[in-house]
Amino acid sequence: MSTKMKAALMYGPGDVRVETVDRPVCEPDGLILKIMAVGLCGSDIRNLTTDSRKGAYPFIYGHEITGIVDETGSEETRYKVGDRLFLFPGTYCMECEECISGHSENCSNTEVTKLAGTGGFAQYIAVKGEKIRRGGIYRIPENVSFEAASLAEPLTSVYACLENIRVGYPDTVVIIGAGPIGDFMAQLSKIRGAHRVIMIDINRRRLEMARQFGVDEIIDSSETDPIEAVLQLTGRKGADKVISATPVNATQTQSIHMVRKGGLVVFFGGVPKGSMTELDCNLIHYNNIWIKGHFGASYDQSMRAFRLAVSPEFPSGKFITHVLPLDEINKGIQLTRSGEAIKVVLHPWD
Ligand SMILES: [Zn+2]
Ligand SMILES: [Zn+2]
Repeated sequence: MSTKMKAALMYGPGDVRVETVDRPVCEPDGLILKIMAVGLCGSDIRNLTTDSRKGAYPFIYGHEITGIVDETGSEETRYKVGDRLFLFPGTYCMECEECISGHSENCSNTEVTKLAGTGGFAQYIAVKGEKIRRGGIYRIPENVSFEAASLAEPLTSVYACLENIRVGYPDTVVIIGAGPIGDFMAQLSKIRGAHRVIMIDINRRRLEMARQFGVDEIIDSSETDPIEAVLQLTGRKGADKVISATPVNATQTQSIHMVRKGGLVVFFGGVPKGSMTELDCNLIHYNNIWIKGHFGASYDQSMRAFRLAVSPEFPSGKFITHVLPLDEINKGIQLTRSGEAIKVVLHPWD
């Protein structure tokens, strides 16, 4: 057995190199997963292209991990060599006040939550015994591909968000940001029974691709005033629910003006730390607008989102536009940024 492996190491903003490094060592109560497919996430791209580690490099990102158990420690009994697994990066203690109250997405046990898996842009990853005991590892059914199963990670927070805000019939939902997350939002809104989905983006190519996920109307905000366009499409009432799924403060500012009286706005996309969003609070007050932040998912939601991702009802194949060898991770970043790719999945062994 080789003690080396291939991995994509980040050396600084935009500096990602595929190199040979030491294969991780299996702990007595842990296991080693041979990574078969790993998704390239929007947050990975943000982390890989900014000084996300504040100088602490090299570092291996990648958290949408699927693979085969390659080795188990002498004390590990739950999984065996050959098992096909999806590693959900969230881990919950199920013991703290938040977990017990049914809100494990807010788990306050940082020792446990930091078990969250990163290091997926490699051929192998070590899984700690603590992670195995706490859960968040799911078996991939035999008839489901590793690529499809890797979508369970980005799908999870979308699933949780739409469930928490009860998207359903006869909602008109506005989604700002036609990236992979926006596309998941559109598809899942329709599965949940939303009457109409309106997608807004500045990238025409992304908007056109979004149509296949149940989007009814597209608005190119590089050409059209998106607020006026939403008002026109909704008889000047505004949408029931507006989801800002971009990393931009300006779309949060706009979202308030697209929602109907008493409607709900969700800030789903993370904006740069420390940045401030300008909001028309007079309008929020008089129009009884609800504003909600969203991040993550509860343990229960992560389980159900995984089940959806691997079910035949979910068109995972439509989302995965590119499967590339890990060596081409930089190409994957470019394809995603340009809007040519929806979801890029990387193969560490090609
Ligand atoms: Zn992700
Ligand atoms: Zn907890």
